[in-house]
Amino acid sequence: ATAGGAVEWDGTGRTSDGHMVKVLANVGAPADARAAAEAGAEGVGLFRTEFSYLDADDEPSVEQQRAAYVAVLEPFRGKPVIVRTLDAGADKPLAFLDPDVEPNPALGVRGVRVAFDRPGVLDRQLEAIAGAAAESGADVSVMAPMVATAEEAAWFAERVRAAGIARAGVMIEVPAAALTAREVLDAVDFVSIGTNDLAQYTFAADRQLGAVAKLNDPWQPGLLRLIALVGEAAKATGKPAGVCGEAAADPRLARVLAGLGVTSLSMNAASVRAVGASLAGASLADCERAAQAAVAAPTAADARTAAKGA
Ligand code: PEP
Ligand code: MG
Repeated sequence: ATAGGAVEWDGTGRTSDGHMVKVLANVGAPADARAAAEAGAEGVGLFRTEFSYLDADDEPSVEQQRAAYVAVLEPFRGKPVIVRTLDAGADKPLAFLDPDVEPNPALGVRGVRVAFDRPGVLDRQLEAIAGAAAESGADVSVMAPMVATAEEAAWFAERVRAAGIARAGVMIEVPAAALTAREVLDAVDFVSIGTNDLAQYTFAADRQLGAVAKLNDPWQPGLLRLIALVGEAAKATGKPAGVCGEAAADPRLARVLAGLGVTSLSMNAASVRAVGASLAGASLADCERAAQAAVAAPTAADARTAAKGA
């Protein structure tokens, strides 16, 4: 194994022995997409569409949405882009949905749950995404946020396919979805682990609260063990499982995630090169050793140290 970052990245995400792990970017607006393309991202692992709705008093029309999505997709013609459907609620309340006041917004009607009551909002967004995919030439997949069960995943996948979009996936950011990853993957084409929310819900620790930030450390063995379950399900089904939370931006952790069976990493544009270089500096066996050591560690600090020594 080589020390993290010691290797130049050639722009293709893979370990030193050629095991492919795509290095993708998280984007929200056209400027992010341009920055991600310039940074050398191989595609987009998370396009947060709620940013197109934030200032809207009314639901944007299909045509308005389509134009907003095309502007983000354009730099990625011919490349993979995962568009996430609206993740409203909790820390992202959207005025046009006229949200109810809830005592526990993080546990309330957020993410895909909004669509169960208002499937028309989802269907119009899917129509806009399908149109934007065709116009931009990007290789578009769609995924839902805050899915808790395989049943919800199947409901979502059916609507995506009805909209004529080729690939449907879901985020794994609720612990129940990680624990049933096999059944969830049977219902969809791929999953993407959102470590920001998965940590928040696993440790019952508000992701926005500095006082509990230590619990939301992505090196926590409790989080890594859930990710390991998802990686095993991905291997068993032969379907992709990415990571698109902040954890993917840590070059050392990227090796651990690859070793757990994660097939792509999606991050802010600024981290793309360092993560690509870190993967290129380790073999898959190195990554698997680091993963086993981190998962078995008793604390987050021990996981960091163990992964370094592996
Ligand atoms: C996550 O929860 O890890 C994630 C990528 O989604 P968001 O940060 O938009 O909630
Ligand atoms: Mg999330």
